[in-house]
Amino acid sequence: MDKIFLRKGRERSVERRHPWIFSGAVERVDGAPSVGSTVAVCAYGGAILGYGSWSPQSQIRVRMLSYSPDAVPGGEYVKSLVSAAIERRASSDGVSPLAAANRGVRLVHGESDGLPGVVADSYDGWCVVQFASAGAEHFRNEVVAALMEAGAKGVFNRSDVDSRKREGLSDEGTVGVLAGAEPPEFIEIHEGAIRYLVDVRNGHKTGFYLDQREARAQVGAYAAGREVLNCFSYTGGFGLACAAGGAKSVVNLDLSKTALQLAERNFELLFGGGVPRCPVEFCCADVFKQLRLYRDQGRQFDLIVLDPPKFAETKAQLIRAARGYKDINLLAMKLLRPGGILATFSCSGAMTAEFFDTVCREAACDAKRDMQIIDRTHQASDHPTALSFPEGEYLKGLVLN
Ligand code: SAH
Repeated sequence: MDKIFLRKGRERSVERRHPWIFSGAVERVDGAPSVGSTVAVCAYGGAILGYGSWSPQSQIRVRMLSYSPDAVPGGEYVKSLVSAAIERRASSDGVSPLAAANRGVRLVHGESDGLPGVVADSYDGWCVVQFASAGAEHFRNEVVAALMEAGAKGVFNRSDVDSRKREGLSDEGTVGVLAGAEPPEFIEIHEGAIRYLVDVRNGHKTGFYLDQREARAQVGAYAAGREVLNCFSYTGGFGLACAAGGAKSVVNLDLSKTALQLAERNFELLFGGGVPRCPVEFCCADVFKQLRLYRDQGRQFDLIVLDPPKFAETKAQLIRAARGYKDINLLAMKLLRPGGILATFSCSGAMTAEFFDTVCREAACDAKRDMQIIDRTHQASDHPTALSFPEGEYLKGLVLN
């Protein structure tokens, strides 16, 4: 096996089990490792610290797979990590997450499950995977085999992600069936009383935002009797949770027409399932513009949800992103009736929870509103954060009153 040697003192982070080794930490490479292959990671003095995947084109040059000279990671090792991740998601009565009818669940959450760059979601037993790094791509067949052995109905690839470019990986053949049967056009998953249709071929990410599952339930609990504005609604998400929670009315706002069409079908499923019908609007528009339009029209709401896409991909984009967050939060606060609730989120990993608080504080200041934090939300528990990998905690939310 090829070896890489770290600069003096740079073994600290590996010893602390942080999974990323940046290019600047690498002193020299012994051999000519191919893209994605496994290398032994050595301290300056030569001692093997563990093993990781080689990404010669990425700033993150090595992603760690194991932290002991004895744990040489091969195909079986990777398969055992996938199985362990799936077992951790079993329900308390031991039912496999792949066997639970209509369950939508993240089975493998990258670095935090010990599998850098690998994402696997299951929708009613249909797995959808993303291989975002060279090492992840290298072990693709093992990951797929482990999912099939765990009972997946099929494995569908949605590795059409931007990060592959930074890894020097091609985007050919990144979408399609990898094993088992073709998934249906729409897969139905349930979250409490809510039924969602998931389009794994054309939807965002693997088809759905599983990471907001628990936040949707938290916010829905505040919705009774309120006029709700659900910004960045995607396929209904928070709007459905609010309608299920007894909202007076719901406006869903999103740029994507296809997402809103699916949202409409999801609302029909909700009301068809016995939840009392309330007036629902679907508005295809840019949130930045539409909030200004509502302001000019004097339209007001009792509960506003802001769940925007990632505004900052990197730390360098943080200041610009902060302006975007402040802008929409300020506008939303102005549209809130007295006593209204704002549920606001940031999924930019580069933005810390503290900084997000600050941005919202500034927005409230400019809106001349006193607001309290009455609740905080976090990414769903099937999107865990390894304690050694704080970067894994990307999604945060505030419920303000
Ligand atoms: N809250 C949703 C997930 C939101 S994802 C849920 O719980 O499922 C972010 C959404 O924002 C996407 O659907 C995307 O189409 C939409 N979007 C991105 N930029 C937008 C903009 N400027 N105006 C309106 N919608 C936008």
